[in-house]
Amino acid sequence: MRIAVFNAKAYDRDFLSRANAEGRHQLVFLEAHLDASSLPLAAGSEAICIFVNDKLDAELCRGLVARGVRYVALRCAGFNNVDLEAADAAGLKVVRVPAYSPHAVAEHTIGLLLCANRRIHRAHNRVREGNFELNGLMGFDLCGKTAGVIGTGRIGALVASLLHAFGCRVLAHDLQQDPELLRLGVQYASLDQIYRDCDIISLHCPLLPGTHHLIDDTAFAKMKKGVTLINTSRGGLIDTHAAIEAIKSEKIGLLAIDVYEEESNLFFENLSDHILRDDLFARLQSFPNVLITGHQAYFTDTALSQIASITLGNLDALAASGSCANEVHSKLHLAKMS
Ligand code: NAD
Repeated sequence: MRIAVFNAKAYDRDFLSRANAEGRHQLVFLEAHLDASSLPLAAGSEAICIFVNDKLDAELCRGLVARGVRYVALRCAGFNNVDLEAADAAGLKVVRVPAYSPHAVAEHTIGLLLCANRRIHRAHNRVREGNFELNGLMGFDLCGKTAGVIGTGRIGALVASLLHAFGCRVLAHDLQQDPELLRLGVQYASLDQIYRDCDIISLHCPLLPGTHHLIDDTAFAKMKKGVTLINTSRGGLIDTHAAIEAIKSEKIGLLAIDVYEEESNLFFENLSDHILRDDLFARLQSFPNVLITGHQAYFTDTALSQIASITLGNLDALAASGSCANEVHSKLHLAKMS
């Protein structure tokens, strides 16, 4: 199958080429994001392969089909960037990688917590400049703290058990309870209880209409002063304006994020020579108690290898039988994860 791989970075080429070592597919790697101007590059390909920030709207769906494309392979779990109803209406089949390495994201979450809490990023810079002063670097023991995990699916469950291993009392909130976590001693609680009791809150639920800006002014008002908030799920879960106000009022003690609601204009590109036009992001970066990584929680060799082989496997299944277990339909829209 000829596959146009949009927004292909060197690591995408590397891992997808390795997964295609037998040459089953003709991979056409394109640097461009998928949009109206790059659409003609899909002509002649049976499938396109896109990533989290390539937005597929109704016009693009129709344009792809007009150019002979039948399949869209998302090389990610989330599909909030795809208009599924439009894809269905156009006759495009959309497949994704529902799970590749929840460990990758869970471990990065704990990495952000440890780094932000112990100011490791700041300490590193100081030591490089010969400044061995400790003022401003004081953290807190995780052991004995109360940590809240919102969303205990594949990633959240791992984060909850890692926090438990650090000696935290772990509260969790989800639509369904995980029996393994209950056995571990994790207690399920309401959001209000999590906001009221937790020193650390980590977000792992999907971005849905109902979870958009889950963490807003009202939620911050209910939280403990000095709370540590971590988000490796999707940026839209946090109202950034509210977070900035909560940092200024010292409600937030530490904010560590791998995702940002307007990240599609920033992340995955080298913009170091460009003028930053996103004032909200600039404000976030200005705080000493904010740690940001650019959507790299998934970025491990294990995860990339899984993503590449499952993506090509999805297309193999579609080519063989016209269907695939990892297909996403518009009727799943309400249940969709990000
Ligand atoms: P999952 O589907 O296994 O788990 C999501 C959990 O959230 C489920 O248990 C679900 O019941 C729960 N949930 C749904 N709505 C909820 C609500 N309103 N309140 C509380 N819980 C709710 O997904 P996962 O694989 O654990 O991934 C979690 C999130 O991590 C994804 O939504 C994705 O956005 C994000 N993610 C980020 C990266 C990254 O690199 N930063 C990589 C992969 C996934």
